Amino acid sequence: MKSFDLAEPATIEEAVALLDPEDKSVRAIAGGTALMLMMKTRLFQPTRLVSLRRLNGDLRGLRVNQDGGLRIGAMTSLAQLEYSHLVASTYPVLSRALGTLSNIRIRNVATLGGHLAHGDPHMDLPPILMTLGAKVSAVSPRGRRWVDICDLFTGYYETSLIKDELITSVEIAGQPPGVYCWYEKFTARSADDWPTVGVAVRYIVDSGVIRDPRVAVSAATERPMRSAAAEAALTNAPLAPHVLSKAADAAADELEPIADLHGTASYKREMVRVHVRRALEKAAQWRR
Ligand SMILES: Cc1cc2nc3c(=O)[nH]c(=O)nc-3n(C[C@H](O)[C@H](O)[C@H](O)COP(=O)(O)OP(=O)(O)OC[C@H]3O[C@@H](n4cnc5c(N)ncnc54)[C@H](O)[C@@H]3O)c2cc1C
Repeated sequence: MKSFDLAEPATIEEAVALLDPEDKSVRAIAGGTALMLMMKTRLFQPTRLVSLRRLNGDLRGLRVNQDGGLRIGAMTSLAQLEYSHLVASTYPVLSRALGTLSNIRIRNVATLGGHLAHGDPHMDLPPILMTLGAKVSAVSPRGRRWVDICDLFTGYYETSLIKDELITSVEIAGQPPGVYCWYEKFTARSADDWPTVGVAVRYIVDSGVIRDPRVAVSAATERPMRSAAAEAALTNAPLAPHVLSKAADAAADELEPIADLHGTASYKREMVRVHVRRALEKAAQWRR
């Protein structure tokens, strides 16, 4: 491994000033679980790493927002989220998914900010956050902007973050009472593996009719994305098996799966069909 500088700023202002919008070899490091693997395999050779370890304030803690949703600091570890009573009572769908994400050694160290900024299309949390209406606070020397999580992922390991922007926190919208949510993680090899397909769904049922449905898929496509076709098939339709199957078919027809170690593109298309339907069915059984 080539030698590099390690900066440990104490404030967010110092941290963003140490990043460089033009230089890809300068990066932030949070838990380091993704970055260190890339460095060990020489996919990434830094000239400078900017550690976020000493930063406090906005990057830490969990609190309830006025709309009943949560604001989560970017340096919150995935294990802190997994064991948080606030998360469990507000978004049980997130707590359940976190327990299936990799293993406890990774979850103890990996952070929410690193999870999102890495832009790996196989990540478990992005599709869930997409269905829950999350937004990300991105801070740079030019100030703060809010990025809708659906606009964060722009391609394979690509995000809309500029190289000198840091995610400081994530805000998840409050959900109406009785909302139906589910995350269906399908692993083809072992239970703690990366997903072959991840499907998150969220909808409201009003007098037997589906309102405001959201369906998001990860691991099958080049970036996590919502399925507009599946959502259209569900909107204002009765909560009935044929409607859920129609929505699953619409997602499988609309999305463009890509092959990886976990399956071919055609296999993934079929897995999207199966697991969108299952996620919609299980959401109805679980309710939040
Ligand atoms: C063995 C293994 C198995 C895994 N299995 C799964 C799995 O099943 N499901 C799953 O979803 N994930 C899985 N992961 C991925 C894991 O979730 C990520 O590695 C982790 O979330 C990244 O967080 P981190 O804090 O370690 O990021 P880091 O490695 O520190 O950083 C990752 C990237 O994000 C950037 N970054 C970090 N923090 C910020 C910030 N606040 N603002 C801007 N940029 C930032 C860094 O510059 C870097 O480019 C696995 C990882 C490993 C190593």
